[in-house]
Amino acid sequence: MAYNYSCPSCKGHILVNEYITLSVTKKNGECGLVMLSPEPGNYHIITHANLDFKKGEILEIFCPICHYNLICIPEKNLAKVMLEDETGELLTILFSVVFGEHKTYKLDPKSKKVVKFGEHSHRFDFENMMFCF
Ligand SMILES: [Zn+2]
Repeated sequence: MAYNYSCPSCKGHILVNEYITLSVTKKNGECGLVMLSPEPGNYHIITHANLDFKKGEILEIFCPICHYNLICIPEKNLAKVMLEDETGELLTILFSVVFGEHKTYKLDPKSKKVVKFGEHSHRFDFENMMFCF
């Protein structure tokens, strides 16, 4: 499947050579670029060797183009990017900003349907998520 990801704010393309590229800042101020698999539920990441993420660490995630904070209020531990499906429909992808937490959601704004990915995705607040469409 071909994926086409974009920033919800500037609509800029964030998929680079088959990886979603995001700007990440740690609590201690360290920052860098992180590349994620475009396949929801695949948690393989590529980043700089010095960015030593700890399990459970909460990260701030920004668009690498416009620096918009991708956090999805009121769901404070989920970041949001947009995914264009095969039909050109824009879907919302939410994923955890907690390092090591495997939860990803695909939201279809038309059907209000939520598809879950990852072993921690069973814990979510559907009411809060409605604000993220
Ligand atoms: Zn942007």
